[in-house]
Amino acid sequence: MYPAPFRYFRPDSLDKAIRLLSELGEGARPLAGGQSLIPILKLRMDEPTDLVDIGRLPDLRYMKNDNGINFIGALATHARIAVSKIATTIPIIADCALGIADAQVRNRGTIGGSVSTADPSCDWPALLHTLDAEIVCQGPSGKRTLTIHDFIVDSYTTALTDAELVTEIRFRTPGDHSGGSYIGFKKAAPSYPTASVGIQITLAEEDVCKDVRLVLSAAGPRPVTSNEAESVLRGNALTKGNLDKAAEAIIAASDPPSDSRGSSAFKRTMLHSLFIKAANIAISRAHGKNITGAQVYV
Ligand SMILES: Cc1cc2nc3c(=O)[nH]c(=O)nc-3n(C[C@H](O)[C@H](O)[C@H](O)COP(=O)(O)OP(=O)(O)OC[C@H]3O[C@@H](n4cnc5c(N)ncnc54)[C@H](O)[C@@H]3O)c2cc1C
Repeated sequence: MYPAPFRYFRPDSLDKAIRLLSELGEGARPLAGGQSLIPILKLRMDEPTDLVDIGRLPDLRYMKNDNGINFIGALATHARIAVSKIATTIPIIADCALGIADAQVRNRGTIGGSVSTADPSCDWPALLHTLDAEIVCQGPSGKRTLTIHDFIVDSYTTALTDAELVTEIRFRTPGDHSGGSYIGFKKAAPSYPTASVGIQITLAEEDVCKDVRLVLSAAGPRPVTSNEAESVLRGNALTKGNLDKAAEAIIAASDPPSDSRGSSAFKRTMLHSLFIKAANIAISRAHGKNITGAQVYV
């Protein structure tokens, strides 16, 4: 199907893009990599009057680290993030970026577009919870910074207001004795995950957990987190029994929908085994082991 007619604008600066979006009003949409928006337009699930192409803005592609804080511009693509120094330092970032779709989608899709879509199956909105990331937004009234938790409001709904753009994603590099793992279960590379799990852990000593962040994706309208599940592990030994208890607690907080990718019951069982696999990889990485690749395909 062809999209409904729209006008197309390509401003050459961030300020001009924000001004245009503000002038064009509620029918206008920013276009970044187009990997979510173009299919939505073709299916006529949205019929914007205007597209403001921000995809070639020069200043939003950076990836840098300053004093232990990582800054990623909204237009950094999944492919560039996958091979960045940030991904080498923080393996959970590589897991996520490399697991998204296929090379074509990764070469065009952006981290800013992914968080702004707030698709419950998309990986960045969930993954960024494990790193307590912040989202920098800029609009006609200036800049503001939100935690990823406050930014993702619901399925396909963010805290962005009219004419506001995501400009940057920030997170701290995890400290010593930390390791993370993000695993999605997929039918094939170009399909969205059936279910995903992210775990970022810091060890106090041998196998005792000092701190932990847990998240499930494609398991409810927004990324699923659970203080209760994290407190099962925090301060305690990372035994099989405790990992099972934590998995049960976070899965109890989830609500995976039954759909063409599987029944809710199947997804709950899948989430449990992904959780244990991700936890074991995260613990091994926290011990300094180099483990690559973390997707599970049917
Ligand atoms: C076949 C296929 C498979 C895929 N599989 C996966 C997968 O396994 N995992 C996964 O996570 N994703 C997957 N995706 C989605 C992909 O990651 C998209 O790249 C991403 O969701 C959107 O990024 P984009 O830059 O293409 O955004 P666009 O499609 O250009 O925009 C998406 C939405 O965000 C808005 N937007 C874009 N940038 C900004 C910004 N900076 N500020 C404010 N609003 C903005 C747009 O207006 C639009 O509403 C898949 C996509 C396809 C086509």
